Amino acid sequence: MIENVRKVLVKYWGYDGFLPLQERAIDCVGRGKDAIVVLPTGGGKSLCFQAPAVVLGGLTIVVSPLIALMKDQVDALTECGVPAARLDSSLSAQEQGGVIQAIRDNKLKLVYVAPERLVSESFLGLLRGSGVSLIAVDEAHCVSMWGHDFRPEYRQLGVLKKMFPNVPVGAYTATATEKVRSDIGEQLGLREPEMIVGSFDRPNLIYKVRPRADRLRQVCAVIDRHRADSGIVYCIRRKDVESLSAELNAKGYRTAPYHAGMAPDDRRQNQDDFIKEKIDTIVATIAFGMGIDKSNVRYVVHTGLPKSLEHYQQESGRAGRDGLEAECCLFYSSGDYGVWKSLMRDMEGDAQAIALAKLNDMYDYCTSGACRHRAILRYFGQDSVGQECGACDICLGELDCLANSLQTAQKILSCVARLDERFGGDYTAAVLVGSREQRVIENGHDGLSTYGLLAEHPRRVVRDWIEQLVGQGCAAKTGEFNVLRLTEKGWRVLKGQARPRLLRPAAKPEKVKVAKAAKDSWEGVDKGLFETLRQLRRDIAGRKGLPAYVVFDDRTLREMARLKPSTGDELLEVKGVGEKKCQQYGKAFLSAIEQHCRTRPRGTDGGPV
Ligand code: ADP
Ligand code: ZN
Repeated sequence: MIENVRKVLVKYWGYDGFLPLQERAIDCVGRGKDAIVVLPTGGGKSLCFQAPAVVLGGLTIVVSPLIALMKDQVDALTECGVPAARLDSSLSAQEQGGVIQAIRDNKLKLVYVAPERLVSESFLGLLRGSGVSLIAVDEAHCVSMWGHDFRPEYRQLGVLKKMFPNVPVGAYTATATEKVRSDIGEQLGLREPEMIVGSFDRPNLIYKVRPRADRLRQVCAVIDRHRADSGIVYCIRRKDVESLSAELNAKGYRTAPYHAGMAPDDRRQNQDDFIKEKIDTIVATIAFGMGIDKSNVRYVVHTGLPKSLEHYQQESGRAGRDGLEAECCLFYSSGDYGVWKSLMRDMEGDAQAIALAKLNDMYDYCTSGACRHRAILRYFGQDSVGQECGACDICLGELDCLANSLQTAQKILSCVARLDERFGGDYTAAVLVGSREQRVIENGHDGLSTYGLLAEHPRRVVRDWIEQLVGQGCAAKTGEFNVLRLTEKGWRVLKGQARPRLLRPAAKPEKVKVAKAAKDSWEGVDKGLFETLRQLRRDIAGRKGLPAYVVFDDRTLREMARLKPSTGDELLEVKGVGEKKCQQYGKAFLSAIEQHCRTRPRGTDGGPV
């Protein structure tokens, strides 16, 4: 089985090997075993059922929760030359009839269906007569109430295993938690499923976290580092989506808004423009993203604090699915923390406690000085002993620790104590920098021994240190007004028995160090040629009404711009070029490369020789 799949991989997809764990997942199918496959976004889950489907004799059924997802995958398969179709409510009766006929005639390798249709009597009847060889449940966490995207329709899928006891079922998800995993097995009625769980690290993502200061300026700085690339900017509230998108457009950036309060047609249009690369940046609430398979998102910005690391992992994970470097920037403020907290006020006891704990973990992530990759892995229970990741603000040395962290922390905490633990962070910062604000004077706090102790620092920096101390458990925010209190650890810091780390934004400009991931993937690439090929891809995609990355993904284009093939055979050597795509697009791309090389000799990076 595996050897045949390998051949299929080369022929249809142009890939020369498997990504980690793909082989194991495919091997399960070959042995007729049920499996639960947990791989992070970009881990290559779809190939785990698509490639065996081509090799197996009968039909593979893929259950998928969203029409957009199905459409994307079917388009991509068709482009590769794999016979696949989808059955959903967006097709006309005639189109649906065509697909059903194709199933009867055994003309398809894969058919994508929504869960409610799959479990209908008529469809099950159709399947019984047509030799099903594999059932794939995509986004399988939708089956579980513990997941972040529960769909009641998924609950009925248990009937499949009863009806087709001998057909292997594969469940695929990127959701990490133990609870969801076991729930999937139970709900689907899987028989001793093999658990295949990949690493949750995404080494190609570069994580950066900063306190939010000037939202527009900070977001522009990120976009400017990725001119003409695709990216997502998340806001917590709809009105922020509207205002930020308008501000960016006014500055000449090509963006469009997306949130659940917009008219469905406008929303669809903006999403489509993003996927087809008519705009560069989508500014959105977290309503955007599910079902977006766009593989070349080069940056994801959060302009506010996400409510859990699960959410952050999922949303930031939409960057760099193609494995190439991408940047994930998070701008947070303590105000966001308060907003979430007040939104959680009406939750039930247990649920509230869980949500609050997750929010606190998220906030700790922002304010701690530990490697971001390691912090995320630790959260998901995959602690690694690796060294510096080389792909986060901490390890890249963009943020320095204060040399005198301890003394500074002591000044701050003793000020909290002198204020009798009755004031919040803003006020405490005001006292520490020696503000002449009326309320400070009226309270007589200009007479405190800690008044003006940190006067040499900007107030927002001091404010941020306070958050860092909260994040490291040295102080706690209590009550409705987030009044600061010293914790047990805080008292130990005052006695010099515990050492917190306070960060200071580095004085050096950003981008001094290029992350290793970025260096590797541009090695030897002729960037001018890459841009030319991108334009060509955009033209072809526009003409065919397809997402650009379905034609070729970014990685494939970069490899073309590195290897500069001059014949069809050389082109087939490029990862991501299979036979069908070579036939369809080979000529156009080869001639673009040829033309580019005529003006510049091959083997240079486009600069002077
Ligand atoms: P997931 O569904 O797990 O997020 P995808 O199936 O969308 O991941 O795959 C992520 C990316 O990796 C896609 O661009 C896909 O083409 C690519 N990919 C998948 N398998 C391989 C492979 N064996 N070799 C090279 N690239 C691969
Ligand atoms: Zn790191």
